Amino acid sequence: MLQSDQQTCMLCDGKIETAVHLFLHCDWVAKVWYEITRWLGFTLIIPPNLAIYFAMWATCVSNKKEKKGICLIWNAFMWVVWKTRNRCIFNNMAAICEEVVEQIKVMSWQWFIGTMAKAPCLLHEWKWSLIDCCLGFSDI
Ligand SMILES: [Zn+2]
Repeated sequence: MLQSDQQTCMLCDGKIETAVHLFLHCDWVAKVWYEITRWLGFTLIIPPNLAIYFAMWATCVSNKKEKKGICLIWNAFMWVVWKTRNRCIFNNMAAICEEVVEQIKVMSWQWFIGTMAKAPCLLHEWKWSLIDCCLGFSDI
């Protein structure tokens, strides 16, 4: 029996929605994580909580610029998944994994070029190798 302040996850339509479920353990979100980590070339096992997962991400890259880049991906992931969850609940829209993965790539790229005086890479370059593009971060 559900408590009144609990609701089931709209993305997998079953489990109780908690933050750790929504952003980490949901079967639907796990597919998105899989696609994103595959894109980045990481092989990660989903851990029990987000803090551990973030720490695992940080060890996948070797320098500060790359870390900045994967932080952009992390933040874009949280933002896009949250927006998607809200659209499912309030607009009754379906969550499509491929679309969400694409939105995460585009949003992180937009944030990346927003930190620069001039565009350091094109979207297709970002999609091709985010790590190479991150070398374009300023040293400050
Ligand atoms: Zn779920």
